[in-house]
Amino acid sequence: MTEPGAKPAQETRWYALPTDEAVKRLGTEPEAGLADEDVRRRLDEYGTNELIEAGRKGPWRILRDQLISTMVLVLIAAALVSALIGSFKDAGAILAIVVLNAVLGFVQEYRAEQAMAALRRLSVPSVRVRRNGRTVEVSSPELVPGDILLLEDGNLVPADGRVIRSSSLRVQEAALTGESETVEKSVEPLENGDIALGDRVNMVYRGTYVTYGHGSVLVTATGMQTELGRIAELIQNVESEQTPLQRRLAELGKGLVVLSLAVAALVFLLGWWRGEPLSLMFMTAVSIAVAAIPEGLPAVVTIALALGAQRMLRRKALIRKLPAVETLGSVTVVCSDKTGTLTENRMTVTMLDVSSRRIDLAEHLSHDEPFFDRDAPELRPVAESAQLQLLLVAGSLCNDAELEQRKGSERFRAMGDPTEAALVVAAARFGWVKAELEKDFPRCGDIPFDSERKRMATVHEVRSSETAGTVFSGIGESAADFERMALVKGAVDSLLTVVDRVWTEEGVVALDEEWRGRIQEAHESLAAQGLRVLGVAWKPTEAGKEEDIESELIFVGFFGIVDPPREEVRAAIARSRSAGIRPIMITGDHPLTARYIARQLGIAEDPETLSGRELDAFSADELDEAVESTAVFARVTPEHKLRIVEALQKSGQVVAMTGDGVNDAPALRRADIGVAMGITGTDVAKEAADMVLLDDNFTTIVAAVEEGRTIYDNIRKFVKFSIAGNLGKILFVVAGPLLGMPLPLLPLQILWLNLLTDGLLGLGLSVEKSEPGIMERKPVSRGQSFFAGGMIGQIVRTGLLIGVIPLAAGWWLYSDGDENWQTAAFTLLAFSQLWQSVGVRASRHSVFRLGLFSNRAILFAGLAVIVLQAAVVYLPALQNVFSTRALPPEFFVLSLVGTSVVFWFLEAGKRLRRRGRSTPAGS
Ligand code: ADP
Ligand code: MG
Repeated sequence: MTEPGAKPAQETRWYALPTDEAVKRLGTEPEAGLADEDVRRRLDEYGTNELIEAGRKGPWRILRDQLISTMVLVLIAAALVSALIGSFKDAGAILAIVVLNAVLGFVQEYRAEQAMAALRRLSVPSVRVRRNGRTVEVSSPELVPGDILLLEDGNLVPADGRVIRSSSLRVQEAALTGESETVEKSVEPLENGDIALGDRVNMVYRGTYVTYGHGSVLVTATGMQTELGRIAELIQNVESEQTPLQRRLAELGKGLVVLSLAVAALVFLLGWWRGEPLSLMFMTAVSIAVAAIPEGLPAVVTIALALGAQRMLRRKALIRKLPAVETLGSVTVVCSDKTGTLTENRMTVTMLDVSSRRIDLAEHLSHDEPFFDRDAPELRPVAESAQLQLLLVAGSLCNDAELEQRKGSERFRAMGDPTEAALVVAAARFGWVKAELEKDFPRCGDIPFDSERKRMATVHEVRSSETAGTVFSGIGESAADFERMALVKGAVDSLLTVVDRVWTEEGVVALDEEWRGRIQEAHESLAAQGLRVLGVAWKPTEAGKEEDIESELIFVGFFGIVDPPREEVRAAIARSRSAGIRPIMITGDHPLTARYIARQLGIAEDPETLSGRELDAFSADELDEAVESTAVFARVTPEHKLRIVEALQKSGQVVAMTGDGVNDAPALRRADIGVAMGITGTDVAKEAADMVLLDDNFTTIVAAVEEGRTIYDNIRKFVKFSIAGNLGKILFVVAGPLLGMPLPLLPLQILWLNLLTDGLLGLGLSVEKSEPGIMERKPVSRGQSFFAGGMIGQIVRTGLLIGVIPLAAGWWLYSDGDENWQTAAFTLLAFSQLWQSVGVRASRHSVFRLGLFSNRAILFAGLAVIVLQAAVVYLPALQNVFSTRALPPEFFVLSLVGTSVVFWFLEAGKRLRRRGRSTPAGS
């Protein structure tokens, strides 16, 4: 319970308090943690543990941006001038459109912003705390002062707190203190004086992360009250970054604005010079400007990217940074971890190997359901060898996985890192249940696994007991009498650097060259079958010798572990290769294991393999050359990953790189697309990544690439559609007067057309599905112009056609004296773009191949266009506003059918281009 008035005031020097005093002041219990109602109360009191988001666009910001866009400014100027020259009806109509336009833009952008906010919420890390006497996972914003937070390596520190338990807890604090060395945390109170942040070794701070060890922390400050929160207040006004495509299109948009204003001014001056009424020329100029300003352009990109990110989420790829959506379409190399991404991470021990004995367990240990029985009787006789027993016991003890027993049965399941879980399961199948072993051999120290050393160590007390007697019977004499034992498990090559003896059937002997050779050979023969191999070494030790655990060890033997390749990844690899994307495997595992799996997955027939050791010996130039052809990098460390990414990028590749550990973060940040594992990944890796694979599956990367390409395609389709349509309108408005038609389209009518086309049909384009064969093309190269592939020509041709239709029909009717000419041209423009949107849906294939009705959004948008246009033409109220006249119904229908010429024109163009492509180049 909180003591009255006990506030975690910022002024409290938590570092100067003994832990029990700090815990008491915050009214909590180090083991039990807070109770739920207490948490609720504190959430009310201190607020959620969130930093006020900087640079996010709130609804007001979006609205303001909408209101100061060029389009709106042009329109407001137009309204003002209209009012000045006394035409109040026009001024009112224009202002009405300004509002409509802003509302539409606002809705779209708000939707995009909401989609991104939803994605951000999914990216919030969860944290482990003690509450109600149990360890629970809660989402980081729900932390309150007084929470007992459990931290381990790979965790981001989510709040400020006083360390109350530290097991080699090391924290990287560079983000806050600038100090790049990690700091080891302790629990002892510091002196009660002013101590700099970086020197408060019993405190942890939000924004830092744990690189090593584990510990418990008493949360003392959350949200904006944290040290980071105080700095964050100073850096609130960061603009959110635009993607390259957004930037390019915004520039294009600006160019078009300048151009259209110039054309409008020119037409205005020309008309004036010819002595046309000023107000008429002014309205014509406004019409042109309105027709030409591509106001939808940047917004559509944002929306397409944000909604695309949502679609990717459905395929299990969580986008953390919006630019990734478009970069994904250009990826040329995917560097993937092996374990868990290419393989199932469903590990089973199938081989035991101790000096001169090898036991194949494949039949006994593979089980499909998670629960299994302990102590398979048929295995008992196998385990008579003392070395085998020590191998199994050590594998289970030097291990952070745990066994969970199903209530009321003797059935178990293993929890934790799959590699470790496999070892715990193996031991249990022989009758050694980890929790029971730990009673005989309680752990009293450890050096955690890391991917540099590729091994871990634990120290255990040896309590004289039956198990100790059995296990150590093999070394005779007073074997069971020693005080402690050190156990080390890890990659065999790594162990061989710290062992000097080997335990054989003849007892412990020196590890001579012959033994070394034998062990290596046995090891390689397992690795060559694709097994992951994990060795075990040990030695007796005593208290006070914690410093030299990992030396002068006795080699015991090793496990061969099967981790089957993921079924679906084979197809995904083939798919990525046909898409011009080179898959590369990167693993800490043995080269032979890696090669075997790479072959099975079709990464290469005979994969060129490089090991970390070989990489170390390479010069930068040699590495640049090697990355061109290497398909498998084995026994690498995270630093190698960084070098590999850099070398690939130097040769112009666009690299996606996966990772899960703290040390992978630099490579993830460096890669064009950093991909973190959602299930096994650390918070730090996720934080550094552009994308998170929620299912840890390689297939998901390929799916995301496909979505990325589709989104890029769709943005191009929209741009094509929108610019060609605008071109058509400008053509009509500029050329119309030259043919004698005064003011061919009113600004209001053009705004209406924009609403129908860009607003309805255009958005339909942005949800178009992938075109067939999208994964058989080469990636979009990064230097490639957005308008590559003759797009400008297509835009101009289509624009001309769309402009010529109303021009011809309008002129014909006008010279006939038909008063409907303007409404007719207006309607023809609407329907031309309706058909254009259908034709633009596919850029390479015939729309009939996609299925005429396969994009429902466009279907409905098309129907809406017909109905709305009919309303504008036939409803008297709207006739009044839009200055339209009722067309003869047969003309309305005929226009709809006749304008399909635009569709057929686009289809014919694709047909010609397809034929052009299939003839050999240069002929
Ligand atoms: P991967 O790239 O396949 O994830 P890791 O870095 O996890 O590779 O593992 C590299 C090597 O380290 C493995 O081949 C294994 O020998 C050893 N190893 C992996 N996990 C553990 C562990 N928990 N304890 C000890 N050694 C391990
Ligand atoms: Mg691993």
